Amino acid sequence: MTPQDKHHDHCHGERSNSACSACSQDKDTIMACRLAGIKNKILVLSGKGGVGKSTVAVNLATALSIVGRKTGILDVDIHGPNVPKLLNLDKAKLEARDETLIPARFGDLKVMSLGFLVARQEDAIIWRGPLKMNVIQQFIKDVDWGELDWLVVDCPPGTGDEPLSIAQIFKSDVSAVIVTTPQDLAQMDSRKAVTFCRQLKIPVLGLIENMSGFTCPHCSKVVDIFKTGGGRRMAEEMDVPFLGSIPLDHRLVETGDAGAPFVSAFPDSPAAKAFLQAIKPIIESDGQ
Ligand code: ADP
Repeated sequence: MTPQDKHHDHCHGERSNSACSACSQDKDTIMACRLAGIKNKILVLSGKGGVGKSTVAVNLATALSIVGRKTGILDVDIHGPNVPKLLNLDKAKLEARDETLIPARFGDLKVMSLGFLVARQEDAIIWRGPLKMNVIQQFIKDVDWGELDWLVVDCPPGTGDEPLSIAQIFKSDVSAVIVTTPQDLAQMDSRKAVTFCRQLKIPVLGLIENMSGFTCPHCSKVVDIFKTGGGRRMAEEMDVPFLGSIPLDHRLVETGDAGAPFVSAFPDSPAAKAFLQAIKPIIESDGQ
């Protein structure tokens, strides 16, 4: 019997993700209860840092929310939790009820980050693997997400302890979106992310090529600063869907620093349209 079955059993078959008193002896069961109301979970992964993974995660989550899907974003980057800053929530105070954490909100989007639990943004945390797993488990146990269509999980770069912990907690009931940039070095690292997913039997929903070409605001000429097309080629070679290319746009940096998701700030821009296009196959995979 799975923890979810156990939960549904003693909760009279009702789907609920609040931890009931009968559950509260068993960590796995409580985590399953918390996750029971979440229909689809996506890990946003990248092979290396700086490719725009958090930016993509925030904009994909916002795009899903804009098109009416109940969405949450969970930031499990212990060492560099950027999601609060990207959503102007870095000073947000978390609400807690009966030992339960209530996610912060950016409009309809529910937001939870390990960053909320770090006293100051500049504090460094030195945690090793098993401790990270404990912290992430505790986090999943404590947060009440309510009913969600999508939970987007922003993982730290690479394929280390955090994505592994999350995959284990979700029991591989999760899919992945991999973010890369067009140059060969980034591609090499993103292949490792695809392999990581294959090893853990996590379906890859697709690959996004970020920072793909730059349109000069003065002459409108496109300059391929980091080359272009490498993401699509890699997706074909690795046999994963290609979700699209997000161009470089200086306003993405400005909106990121200002804590306003780009897709809602500049909905008519090519980058915002690319994000809205990228969520279509994701939405089509709903419930699969
Ligand atoms: P990662 O999570 O991979 O480390 P971030 O999302 O923090 O990367 O992005 C790194 C920097 O690149 C940020 O300053 C962000 O605003 C910027 N950035 C990301 N994507 C783009 C883009 N398409 N155009 C311009 N700047 C971008």
